[in-house]
Amino acid sequence: MTSLTGTLGSATPNTPPTPAARLSSLQLTTELTALLDPDIVLTDPTLMDNYRWDWARDPNAGVPLAVVRPRTAEQVATAVRWASSRRIAVVPRGAGSGLSGGSSAVEGGIVISLDRMRAINIDPHTRVAIVEPGALNAEVKAAAREHGLWYPPDPSSFEMCSIGGNVATNAGGLCCVKYGVTTDYVLGMDVVLADGTLIRLGGPRLKDVAGLSLLKLFVGSEGTLGVITRAVLRLVPAQQPPATMVAMFGSVLEAARAVVAISRSVRPAMLELMDQASINAVEDHLSMGLNRDAGALLLAQSDVGGENAATEIATIERICAESGAYESFSTDDPKEGEAFAMARRAAFVAIERKGSLMLEDVGVAIPVLPELLEGVRLIGERNGVAIPTVAHAGDGNTHPIIVYNAADPDSVARASAAFGEIMTLAISLGGTITGEHGVGRLKKGHLPDQLGPDVMALSHRIKNALDPQGILNPGAVL
Ligand SMILES: Cc1cc2nc3c(=O)[nH]c(=O)nc-3n(C[C@H](O)[C@H](O)[C@H](O)COP(=O)(O)OP(=O)(O)OC[C@H]3O[C@@H](n4cnc5c(N)ncnc54)[C@H](O)[C@@H]3O)c2cc1C
Repeated sequence: MTSLTGTLGSATPNTPPTPAARLSSLQLTTELTALLDPDIVLTDPTLMDNYRWDWARDPNAGVPLAVVRPRTAEQVATAVRWASSRRIAVVPRGAGSGLSGGSSAVEGGIVISLDRMRAINIDPHTRVAIVEPGALNAEVKAAAREHGLWYPPDPSSFEMCSIGGNVATNAGGLCCVKYGVTTDYVLGMDVVLADGTLIRLGGPRLKDVAGLSLLKLFVGSEGTLGVITRAVLRLVPAQQPPATMVAMFGSVLEAARAVVAISRSVRPAMLELMDQASINAVEDHLSMGLNRDAGALLLAQSDVGGENAATEIATIERICAESGAYESFSTDDPKEGEAFAMARRAAFVAIERKGSLMLEDVGVAIPVLPELLEGVRLIGERNGVAIPTVAHAGDGNTHPIIVYNAADPDSVARASAAFGEIMTLAISLGGTITGEHGVGRLKKGHLPDQLGPDVMALSHRIKNALDPQGILNPGAVL
């Protein structure tokens, strides 16, 4: 695991909103354990270390007072109610695969890890999955598959991330270009509020406009408004076996222009981009036989079935050729197609082997994608840093990944400069600082630049209304 040393949050460890009452740590954990169970409340520092960081490895992650691993929503409510009475910070945690420091522990707070709450019930009649938050995305997909159904949202991390984390970050993924993001599948939710009240929002109804749209307020709230203890997720009929195309380009710019042209004509089920550095990193890691000389590759899939899929893929292949692709390959063998998708999914892990990383997640409207990607290249050149880039290109969502040497202050400074410049560039192009990973602690400082003072003030008013003591995930997002 590489770290994002020097990039996250403030120079001081993540701190709670206010110091807890004048009780010793031992008195506090004794109180909490009496309300729950010793089996549910971890206080051993070595065991707690497993719950202090997400994949961003926040160097400012604090040492929690305790890690709570509830089995029921009532236990979550009990823990939050106790934290509220003692004004102790609460960090909700799914599987810790986040890339923005969102589930970094707060000094002296409690981490509520939902990893034991994993029940999944599929209702094939209403086509919904009723899921506890700790269930992994892959487990929900597998359970749905048994009923001929499909849960589309597919972050590259789908085998290791939880549904609670997906809902809390409004996670995206590879098939969002056609099927949308997590929020498009959330019909209902149970949430424990900051005072410990357990509420139910929405339910297994495809249409429901009663009251304010509070359900969607919690989607993407990154643990700052409540702890999600159950989600009702919309399922759709199983996906048709996809046909796949890979096209090689001399440059990223050509590939990005092809994306713009493809998006005008067809709606693929996947449209991903890898640049030369990321292709080579994956090849170094997995030896898959990818073309190391390609300046960029585009990976497209069509799931409209049979002949129609072949036609759609042929259209995409033609557009790629017209946009400068010098080589392409297509297959209707789903296994072969999945091997290419695997290359794309493995990119983070492969690039992580090259050094310490600062992960970007900027996005723009599709027509501006070439400008964003070209701008990122220039930022890398100007700051003298390598920025392998992969992208959910069909969404305009890019992941420039800045590789640096954490032991070299000059390298850290250049990487940090590039990190900020990329977000500024995205905002200047009318884009976003984060398309799917969330703001967490990593991007908090740049949020006002995108949202502006009025929207920031409104966001703070909502946060204060729901969490007046500021105990829920303090230091994240706002
Ligand atoms: C290799 C790799 C590839 C990735 N690819 C993608 C991708 O393609 N698309 C994408 O969107 N993301 C991707 N991610 C990022 C990450 O997997 C997602 O953000 C995921 O949704 C996080 O889920 P988690 O269970 O790990 O949550 P965590 O990391 O534990 O938490 C994430 C945030 O959600 C909050 N949270 C978690 N559970 C709850 C809950 N029950 N109630 C309230 N708040 C909660 C936390 O406080 C935190 O703010 C990738 C990560 C890795 C490591």
